[in-house]
Amino acid sequence: MSDLEVLRALLDADRWIDRVTSQRDHLPEAAELHEVEDQLRTLASRSRALEADRKPTRDRFNEAADKASTLRHRRDDVEVRLANATGSPRDLVAMQGELEHLNKALSEAEDREVELLLELEPLDEVAQEITAQAQPLVQRRHALQSSLSELRDSLQEEINHLQSSREAAAATVPEGLRRRYEQALKRSGVSGAALLDGGRCDGCRVSLSPLDQDRWRAAPDEFLPCPHCGRLLLPC
Ligand SMILES: [Zn+2]
Repeated sequence: MSDLEVLRALLDADRWIDRVTSQRDHLPEAAELHEVEDQLRTLASRSRALEADRKPTRDRFNEAADKASTLRHRRDDVEVRLANATGSPRDLVAMQGELEHLNKALSEAEDREVELLLELEPLDEVAQEITAQAQPLVQRRHALQSSLSELRDSLQEEINHLQSSREAAAATVPEGLRRRYEQALKRSGVSGAALLDGGRCDGCRVSLSPLDQDRWRAAPDEFLPCPHCGRLLLPC
């Protein structure tokens, strides 16, 4: 193979590697995953803020419910004692008084319990809404994570395969040329050569001056570098 052919093969191999690497690094699934994770983070922070709002009300509700339950037990006790009472009329009146007092306190405690329950209701609804929004997002995240990992694995396999063909192509380039190619690749990235297409380097997409084009044309075997990006210029 001619120098031009081996350089061209190496250029093509490097461009393929770049294309597949860029595909692996810019998968649309990754962008969507990023978006889904952002939405989940927003929901989690809304949920934490809501929990902070809910906690004091819930604590007061539990307190009111405990108080109502204690009063209910005491009232039931007094009712039983009253039903079985054999004491003096004065004791009976006292017990009757205690019962009235307990009933009044119980009714107040139950009102408070209902009041706090009504306060909690809209907050609970918001919490349910957040959960309902988060559930499909969590599923989507899982699906995206597994398809991303599969896609990345298969693209990586392709890259590895391309790398070994690239090494084989590089081995066929005469040493001096190969060194120039590798240096240009290191400096400019993607490939160490480019095509001169209509007076323009297709690596950096900058046009060469007429003088540089003449110079390049006059020495076809030297593969003079692009004066802008330094890649060895090959005929198109
Ligand atoms: Zn260039």
